[in-house]
Amino acid sequence: MANAQCSCGALTLSLDAPPEFTVACHCRACQRRTGAPFGVGVFYPAGAVTVSGEAGEYVRAGDSGGRVHNRFCPHCGSTVCWTADALPGLVGVAAGALMAADYPPPALSIFEHSMHGWVAVDCALRHFPGGSRPAPG
Ligand SMILES: [Zn+2]
Ligand SMILES: [Zn+2]
Repeated sequence: MANAQCSCGALTLSLDAPPEFTVACHCRACQRRTGAPFGVGVFYPAGAVTVSGEAGEYVRAGDSGGRVHNRFCPHCGSTVCWTADALPGLVGVAAGALMAADYPPPALSIFEHSMHGWVAVDCALRHFPGGSRPAPG
């Protein structure tokens, strides 16, 4: 049974363990990947994630070092999951691809220097970079 899928349903994930944590990421790459003001990744142990269907891969340099490998559906273009060299042993799943909305709220809110002015992730325990949010514009 699929626990996550792309927009058209051709690329699905089976997730056989609970997620470890959730991250809200405001980096420019996540903004462009999602078309949204920020990306939300729900991280699962890599061994618990089974990918079904054809997946393309887009590799980019990660802002915190290493590379990020995005897996996307070649039919509809949705990125469904990714791995990052900086987070070995984990697979990030795009929160919007999940079938159920019962994942934990973001514990981390990162790359807030490029956060859109109206966004606030009040649930996050840790913010990076720390301190006050940047002034709009
Ligand atoms: Zn698709
Ligand atoms: Zn990001």
